[in-house]
Amino acid sequence: MRCMYCNGSLERARVPYHIDRANVHVIIDEVPAWVCSQCDEVMFDERAVDEIQQLITAVDQRTERLINSA
Ligand SMILES: [Zn+2]
Repeated sequence: MRCMYCNGSLERARVPYHIDRANVHVIIDEVPAWVCSQCDEVMFDERAVDEIQQLITAVDQRTERLINSA
């Protein structure tokens, strides 16, 4: 796998990921990712992106429910 920006080689790594929504801020300490050894660009697998997306959707829905429960 090559970096789409500089064509450098990508290495497996775990990186922190921040999710900032209107009312919610989530930090995942270690998300599996690829990091370019040349330009430090971070890329996520389709699967990781998918999981994160589902997580954001769930957090959004739950937060909405919590806010509207009072
Ligand atoms: Zn790169």
